[in-house]
Amino acid sequence: MIPNEINLLWFLLPVAALSGWLIGQCKVNPKGSRSSTLIDPEYFKGLNYVLNQQPDKAIEVFIRMLEVDSETVETHLALGNLFRRRGEVDRAIRIHQNLIARPSLDRKQRAFASLELGMDYMSSGLLDRAETLFLELVESNLHLNQACTELLEIYQQEKDWENAIKIARKLETISGEKLNSIIAQFYCECADSALVDGNMRVVKDNVRQAISSYPNCVRASLIEAQMYQRIGKVKLAIKSYKSIESQDSDFITEIIVPLYDCYRELDCIDEYIEYLKMLVHIYGGISPLLMLTELIAEREGKDAAKRFISNELKTKPSIKGVDRMVEYVISKSEGEIHDYLKIIKILTAKLIEIRAMYKCNNCGFDAKQLHWLCLSCKNWDTVKPVLEL
Ligand SMILES: [Zn+2]
Repeated sequence: MIPNEINLLWFLLPVAALSGWLIGQCKVNPKGSRSSTLIDPEYFKGLNYVLNQQPDKAIEVFIRMLEVDSETVETHLALGNLFRRRGEVDRAIRIHQNLIARPSLDRKQRAFASLELGMDYMSSGLLDRAETLFLELVESNLHLNQACTELLEIYQQEKDWENAIKIARKLETISGEKLNSIIAQFYCECADSALVDGNMRVVKDNVRQAISSYPNCVRASLIEAQMYQRIGKVKLAIKSYKSIESQDSDFITEIIVPLYDCYRELDCIDEYIEYLKMLVHIYGGISPLLMLTELIAEREGKDAAKRFISNELKTKPSIKGVDRMVEYVISKSEGEIHDYLKIIKILTAKLIEIRAMYKCNNCGFDAKQLHWLCLSCKNWDTVKPVLEL
């Protein structure tokens, strides 16, 4: 609760009630006779409740006093808004419902009150009620931008991806803002669920839609590759994994291990080694380099792997590379050298362990695994693999 807001609210409420009542009185008696300015005893009753810290009773009295007409609607809306911002959503709902129930409201005022009430429902988690109000606004062509934005939020919270796609497309036309990469993520959500259910036709369809909405959608290519792997179309899986390199080279780390599995299945490790060499040469990432080292160790022995990695480390020093090199030499070392190497190994292992593997480009959130929707700032497609040490 923000103290300034509380003070403002308790100042505003009686003032609003009094001014609303006075406006009402002047309208009843336009000549402004003496009797019209006598303050309603209800006002003092309300003030007494305020002074006695009985907010609910005070609100009831003041709302009753505050006649709803074109001149006091704004005051009602401001009060409702203040209550919502203070987290007192039930009170905000009562004010906005009371406002909407008045027949004197014109179309625009009613729409604005509906929008506010919808926001109240959102704050209290009554998403279905909020959705009904926002859909009515969209149908009446009023407050389109905000209503669609809120609906998009509702559908994402409810994981109703079909409606999220529809409303995001509508929002794109209304606001002119490009939402194609987010829409692609919604298709990927559908594809992911279908992959879990084993419904490959639905996976394929949603992946196609995701890529047509946003051709650089890495997630769509990853799902597509997993789907092909699952149905035994390994060559097509390799093609999908490889397309990620041109979509966003930051995600190359994600394809190293699955590509190894694919090439191993096809018994084409030589081809895989050539691909890794190309990745190391062009992008210089540590993941392909470590995989290459492992394959050299497997094929030519640890000494050859040690020579390879130590040579590479001269031009591309990295903690993970040093960690691997020490691993190869430590078993053959003895005495003092062995002790020193053990210390280095503990240090590199610790550095690797505490290092986050993924980071949100938008809010800096660190993660150990890849999240397509940032857990912190709730943005899509902003979490990326961290450039390796
Ligand atoms: Zn974030």
